Amino acid sequence: MLEIKDLHASVEDKEILKGLNLNVKAGEIHAIMGPNGAGKSTLANIIAGKEEYEVTSGGIHLDGEDIEELAAEERAHKGVFLSFQYPVEIPGVTVTNFMKTAINETRKAQGLEEMPAKDMLKKIREKSELLEIDRKFLSRSLNEGFSGGEKKRNEIFQMAMMEPKLAILDETDSGLDIDALRIVANGVNKLKGQDNAIVVITHYQRLLDYIVPDFVHVLYDGKIVKSGTKELALELEEKGYDWIKEEINA
Ligand code: ADP
Ligand code: MG
Ligand code: MG
Repeated sequence: MLEIKDLHASVEDKEILKGLNLNVKAGEIHAIMGPNGAGKSTLANIIAGKEEYEVTSGGIHLDGEDIEELAAEERAHKGVFLSFQYPVEIPGVTVTNFMKTAINETRKAQGLEEMPAKDMLKKIREKSELLEIDRKFLSRSLNEGFSGGEKKRNEIFQMAMMEPKLAILDETDSGLDIDALRIVANGVNKLKGQDNAIVVITHYQRLLDYIVPDFVHVLYDGKIVKSGTKELALELEEKGYDWIKEEINA
């Protein structure tokens, strides 16, 4: 589904990604770990098509199609979802109404008609029940006064509603509390399917106590330097990243 080959990319003329390779197939969950500043968020932003990042060489293919020239919005319409895309507070716009608009805008871009109100309500009900989101939450103003956990819940709800082909969750470096970890993990586990793939970027081995990734990768100095299974995450938890550094320099 996602094929990244020898990707080099820069921000403000500084090379951040230095020959990164990654292959993600439908039905898989991949975790990307790595020390601060390794380029994890850069990778997420580049896959999503954020403009400030410049790909200098290498390619990104989604379902065999080169998506490098596509704008972020077009990639979203092709089913690429990056968490934290909508962190804005919108007073007066509820979680539900925001979601209705987002879905209908995507449908419009795909040449589809608006989703009938009845279907929309059904979908909202299904997804909110699946993720144990209560009614009251859905009628709150978007992100206004949301706690960290509520922001996560909203994001996971957005992801569930959009049904992305490829979801990238960048957990950033800010501490997620245990509730937020559970919300993210629950969402990921419930949304995993045969036709979609999920890339979780995380600093925290703890998250992987709840999500079982099929593959774990270490991103270090702009490259994936090691790949393995869940055991690799445990090893990183135990030993940190220094031994990887030594392995590379050996
Ligand atoms: P990680 O998510 O692994 O902590 P990042 O991808 O955020 O790493 O950052 C990698 C490097 O790229 C850092 O040195 C960071 O300062 C730099 N960088 C990332 N985004 C920007 C940006 N928008 N402008 C300038 N430098 C950036
Ligand atoms: Mg980051
Ligand atoms: Mg571009």
